[in-house]
Amino acid sequence: KLSKRLEAVSEYIPIGSKVADIGSDHAYLPCYAVKNGIAEFAIAGEVVEGPYQSALQQVNNSSLSHAISVRKGDGLEVIEKGEVDCITIAGMGGALITSILNQGIEKLSGVQRLILQPNIAAISIRTWCIEHGWKIIAEQILEEDQKIYEILVLEPINDNGPYTLSDEELLMGPMLIKEKNNVFQKKWHQEVEQWKRIIKSLDQAVETVETTEKKNQLQKNIRMVEEV
Ligand code: SAM
Repeated sequence: KLSKRLEAVSEYIPIGSKVADIGSDHAYLPCYAVKNGIAEFAIAGEVVEGPYQSALQQVNNSSLSHAISVRKGDGLEVIEKGEVDCITIAGMGGALITSILNQGIEKLSGVQRLILQPNIAAISIRTWCIEHGWKIIAEQILEEDQKIYEILVLEPINDNGPYTLSDEELLMGPMLIKEKNNVFQKKWHQEVEQWKRIIKSLDQAVETVETTEKKNQLQKNIRMVEEV
């Protein structure tokens, strides 16, 4: 059975997609998507030998090798241009996800949808989005095994219209901020508590330009979150 987190990711894959799952580990997501008739073809990309072998094994054991190609390589280099219309990247930090996108940026032409699930720092994905001509069309926040996850669904901006996000929206998510569900409230309550602890420890440290800057940033974040 697929985790609640990956099942939520799969729900944003358009039916009939050709999808690449980058950092696929056991290839659970592409296997699920193909088996359930969501994706017609999938690539499972992995850069590390162990997880790559797990992916191969999973695909073979599920008799899905006719529809899933398991490839070893760094980020988007496993995809040929135009081969997929949807890319999923799940279970990594937001900064790693954006660096994977940047390193393979030319592979994104023709891609209609990115489904990204950062474990931390979703803000770097939202920042990437406005800098690279993509917009957020859906967001979800969910909790599983005491961990909170965010899912961001991006599509290219075709009309070249302006797409901007406020500081609050960059940090917390333009859609999640409107919904403010229980998990969202829990996450930002926890973040504020942690920021307050960091500020306290900075107060005890020797004051430098860096610590003052860091403190100001955290205090600004706290104000933003508390206002929302
Ligand atoms: N996507 C799966 C999930 O959400 O359950 C697996 C997440 S696992 C924590 C992250 C995986 O990404 C690891 O197997 C790691 O080897 C792989 N990975 C990290 N950087 C990568 C890169 N640049 N290209 C391909 N895979 C990468």
